[in-house]
Amino acid sequence: MTKRAYNFNAGPAALPLEVLQQAEKEFVDYKGAGMSIMEMSHRSKLFEGVNDEAEQLARELLQVPDDYSIMLLQGGASTQFAMVPMNLLSAGKTAAYVNSGSWAKKAIKEAKLIGETRVVASAEESRFTAMPNLSQLDLPEDTAYLHLTSNETIEGTQLAAFPDTGNVPLIADMSSDIMSRPLNVSQFGMIYAGAQKNLGPSGATIVIARNDLINSSQAGVPTMLRYDTHAKSKSLYNTPPSFAVYMVGLVLKWIKGKGGLAAVEQLNRAKTGLIYGAIDESGGFYSGVAEAESRSLMNITFRLQSEELEKLFIKGTEEHGFVGLKGHRDVGGLRASTYNAVPLESCQALADFMKEFQRTHG
Ligand SMILES: *Cc1c(COP(=O)(O)O)cnc(C)c1O
Repeated sequence: MTKRAYNFNAGPAALPLEVLQQAEKEFVDYKGAGMSIMEMSHRSKLFEGVNDEAEQLARELLQVPDDYSIMLLQGGASTQFAMVPMNLLSAGKTAAYVNSGSWAKKAIKEAKLIGETRVVASAEESRFTAMPNLSQLDLPEDTAYLHLTSNETIEGTQLAAFPDTGNVPLIADMSSDIMSRPLNVSQFGMIYAGAQKNLGPSGATIVIARNDLINSSQAGVPTMLRYDTHAKSKSLYNTPPSFAVYMVGLVLKWIKGKGGLAAVEQLNRAKTGLIYGAIDESGGFYSGVAEAESRSLMNITFRLQSEELEKLFIKGTEEHGFVGLKGHRDVGGLRASTYNAVPLESCQALADFMKEFQRTHG
């Protein structure tokens, strides 16, 4: 048996063991081609099949409507921070942003480089321990789009519901919670996510966008940074991250095999319930960072009473086969990332460890 860590890394993150084993089987010789995926032409029939299948599975799992394109690009979610305003923020219009935390801030910073940008809701005053209230949004008359971050990976907060923005396209960075729960894609103009949290290895970025938005890209945007370039060529305008796309396809197939997004959400709730339970039942020994209604199903942030105790906790986890429980360097504390591929057993083991650590250090 392969020894696998209890992997709570924030990203790149755990992949399903079954997926890794499938990739291992096909690694040297993909379907009798006498070569690996990485060595074959991205114009070959075999790779076209891989590319089409990944797109089709994403379409099926998220029930993406026909008037949306799905692209698998390079550059990570961070490139999308710039591509969104470059393509969709025209002169005389305003880009509206929700400032929910560290990742939202990075998206806002890029938009400001491109054009008129306004923050219409912010959780900065509560130090991002909750998602901003989006029920009474006041959008400028000339709003090009509203951008939000569905899950703040660093702070451990997640939106439970999305605002109705009427005719204003809603654009979401879903890098750390895409495919973790069912989604009504038709509510959005565009969704994007780096693959390395919930969908596969780093190197591929999924973009799901309504065609009328893709087709209204600003003139003057360079070819590689235009959505229409990639949508028209089915993500094969230039050499794609072929191995990453293949891995994303395998992960999507695995999600389908689990019973789809409703089943995955149920499992994610069971997993996080174990760890949030250990926090809530600790009588204050552990304290959750996020407020209850904004708690993330993907990144559980919590603290102990002192940094010394947190250091001891990290040391203890490392001795017991856990990886990745240190909080982000910007916020400190502890964080357990419980993405789709993190097994229930890892979460049970962590909850057990937390109780034992409290018994011996409380
Ligand atoms: C990780 C992450 C990003 C950055 O993704 P890259 O692919 O590294 O550019 C952006 N947004 C969120 C919410 C993330 O979790």
